[in-house]
Amino acid sequence: MKNLTPMMQQYLNIKEKYKDTILFFRLGDFYEMFFDDAILASKELEITLTGRDCGNKERAPMCGVPFHSADAYIAKLVKKGYKVAICEQIEDPSKAKGIVKRDVVRIITPGTITDTKVLEDKNNNYLCSIYMDTNGIGISYVDVTTGELYTTEIKCNEKRLINILFDELAKIRPTEIILNDYLYNKKDIVKIIENKFNSIVNLYCDWSYEYNDAKEAILNQMSVLSLDGYGLNEKVYSVLSLGTLINYLNETQKISLNHLNNVTFYTIDNFMMLDINTRINLELTETIRGKSKKGSLFGLLDCTSTSMGGRMLKRWIEEPLINIEDIKRRLDAVDYLFNNFMVVDEIKELFKNVYDIERIIGKIVYGTCNARDLISLKKSISVLPTIKKILCKTSSELLLSLGRELDTLKDIYELIDNAIIDEPPISIKEGNIIKDKYSKELFELREAATKGKEWIYKLEQNEKERTGIKSLKVGYNKVFGYYIEVTKSNLKYVPDEYIRKQTLANAERYITPELKEMEAKILGAEDKIVKLEYDIFLNIRDTIKNQIKMIQKSAKIVAVLDVFCAFAITAYKNNYVKPKLNLDGIIQIKNGRHPVVEKTIGENLFIPNDTYLDNGKNRIAIITGPNMAGKSTYMRQVALITLMAHIGSFVPADDANIGIVDRIFTRVGASDNLSQGQSTFMVEMSEVANILNNGTKNSLIILDEIGRGTSTFDGLSIAWAVIEYISDKIKAKTLFATHYHELSELEGKIEGINNFRILVKEKGDDIIFLRKIDKGSADKSYGIQVAKLAGVPIEVIKRAKEILHKLEETDINNTALTIDKNINKNINVDDANETNENQNEYQLDIFNLKYNNLIDRIKSIDIM
Ligand code: ADP
Repeated sequence: MKNLTPMMQQYLNIKEKYKDTILFFRLGDFYEMFFDDAILASKELEITLTGRDCGNKERAPMCGVPFHSADAYIAKLVKKGYKVAICEQIEDPSKAKGIVKRDVVRIITPGTITDTKVLEDKNNNYLCSIYMDTNGIGISYVDVTTGELYTTEIKCNEKRLINILFDELAKIRPTEIILNDYLYNKKDIVKIIENKFNSIVNLYCDWSYEYNDAKEAILNQMSVLSLDGYGLNEKVYSVLSLGTLINYLNETQKISLNHLNNVTFYTIDNFMMLDINTRINLELTETIRGKSKKGSLFGLLDCTSTSMGGRMLKRWIEEPLINIEDIKRRLDAVDYLFNNFMVVDEIKELFKNVYDIERIIGKIVYGTCNARDLISLKKSISVLPTIKKILCKTSSELLLSLGRELDTLKDIYELIDNAIIDEPPISIKEGNIIKDKYSKELFELREAATKGKEWIYKLEQNEKERTGIKSLKVGYNKVFGYYIEVTKSNLKYVPDEYIRKQTLANAERYITPELKEMEAKILGAEDKIVKLEYDIFLNIRDTIKNQIKMIQKSAKIVAVLDVFCAFAITAYKNNYVKPKLNLDGIIQIKNGRHPVVEKTIGENLFIPNDTYLDNGKNRIAIITGPNMAGKSTYMRQVALITLMAHIGSFVPADDANIGIVDRIFTRVGASDNLSQGQSTFMVEMSEVANILNNGTKNSLIILDEIGRGTSTFDGLSIAWAVIEYISDKIKAKTLFATHYHELSELEGKIEGINNFRILVKEKGDDIIFLRKIDKGSADKSYGIQVAKLAGVPIEVIKRAKEILHKLEETDINNTALTIDKNINKNINVDDANETNENQNEYQLDIFNLKYNNLIDRIKSIDIM
């Protein structure tokens, strides 16, 4: 160390404090990285690795990026999961004694990136903090670009905690998570979180998990004296996770984050619970294949005009409500707009002027906003008075209250309007951003500069006349300042008092004392102008900073209104109806459609279907039909219509009356999870276990061909037992699609179970899909016909038919049915083969034992 150059010593001292980051060390116009950082960054960023003398024999490995294009490099590293510490000079080099002081001014992490160029407009970027012990968990998360901050806590047994944690993370989708050591040490869970949610997971030091520290951090951040106002009293887990989140932000961001001035405490039972599989299966925000927004429910409903509205809509889809009154209020708001479409048109027109107010506020707080951002803010605010008027004239209770609450931010509008030029440049350090009338001092300086320039302009005219040199010019460059230029052919006319300054190929440049005097005046004034404008700008930025809370509130209202308009527009475009809601557990849909499939297969080609489910005789629908008949589509459409109603959207049907459900579960298709070392069947069973463990009588369960991943008998027995369990114990409304036609035996034997089939028509050797659901069960699978439709070679089809014929002759199905019927009666069968009585009894005992234990087995599967 002692041989090292002072700068290298400074570097290493700083690096010592920020070991887990890549340190961007500012040297002149570059950020340089050294040693291991340099080796790593040069590889990750594909930039040249060089070296620098550091005092030791060996040169220090070094690489660097220009300061003006650093953002893109930083974003690249952060996206790869690294943290980048930005180290700047923190004193004026001209005043420094010895080496200029440097320090880290900010650490950019995946969850705190603010560069809007790399963030998606309609996506939040969340940083999440989790505190957990054996009895509870606190989850807090923040989007530093928008100022949204949420926290929740749950107390229950550990296994359930982990489930809830996964469900919450599936909703939040944080890019970065900090954990306490208790959870961090559960390596298997950390691994699942990293894989499943694609998050960067880090341990955060233990000391910060002291309750009092955490509480203090929150009180300081919110500038309040008590936690009462946030509902956080006695919420130890929430406080611990939130306090830590704030500490982490303070440590990394190193500025006061004024926009984090409020925290929303929520409890998970305020919303419909959706586990990660259900979110994925129903393609709520992205498609299963391709992970694209297009083709998801979000993609379909997103007719929002603003980024804020887009993010709000996504949140609503991810957090369906379960309070019937809250949902009704939303539906009434949509209903008003739907029936007054001119209002929607008018609002849409106004929204054209609305920018991402929330992220502009983020920029104001981070000090990265420029004058153009303020003009965007002004334009956005300019529509608020009209929006307020519109809202206050509506007949929807919710819209009216939004109208009443909407602050039109008149002062801020006037401030920006008075101060900032309408079309300012990007830079805030080169002047031309503040209006003359805003500052007397600025006005005078500008006048002085203008007068000076006029004098110079006149000088050109005067000198032309005086010397008779027609081509004489007065010009300006950065090195020599103002000059008089005369071409070589006119040099003989140059007056004596001209002082030669520069020779060009074709001309000479001169100055005069008067010209230099005027130049000093102009440049002095211009320097002052630039500095003054910058100061005024910062001043205005700070004034706005003090009013952030109010701006945020108005931005929220705009976002909500944007979502309502989007709902009205999708409803209008796609012929949706306002659903009725009930608390009687009835789901009744007339001519329901799958909202996404109906769009993809083309206008009017989708065949609508009815649904009736209740808590009594119509609890469980067993749906049979060949592959491709439309079973999954039908079940998903019921789930989606139910969910859409819960977020306040109209639904694709002629009529719908939707009972409030606490959860929707789906177990659809075979979602392979080989990356986690689990077989498809194991994954399927874990999902079934989750449903059986967590479903309630108010849930809606969608099961698509469970048991398919194992042998026929195994699969059939599992499917059978699962239906019985749901029917006896859970009593949830359930749609169950199956290939096992044997399951239709359950109708009439267990109350609440009804058979349905999706109709197909045989036409010669082929089948035609009718897509219509009907009472009764399918009698044939038509697998070979479907294979033929799919283009399987005709020889294979023929051969399959032969084999099928032979198999049917061997009567396998009959044997299976005998066993199934016996299981259903739950008795030992002894009449199957009297001559072999003992053996049979023995076999069936085993079978019954297996059967009786089946649910326990499924339930005991560890779904983590
Ligand atoms: P299954 O689950 O029975 O194998 P799917 O639900 O996957 O069948 O449906 C297969 C295809 O049939 C879908 O991709 C869709 O294109 C079409 N389809 C399904 N339901 C309908 C419907 N009600 N109207 C028109 N086409 C439909």
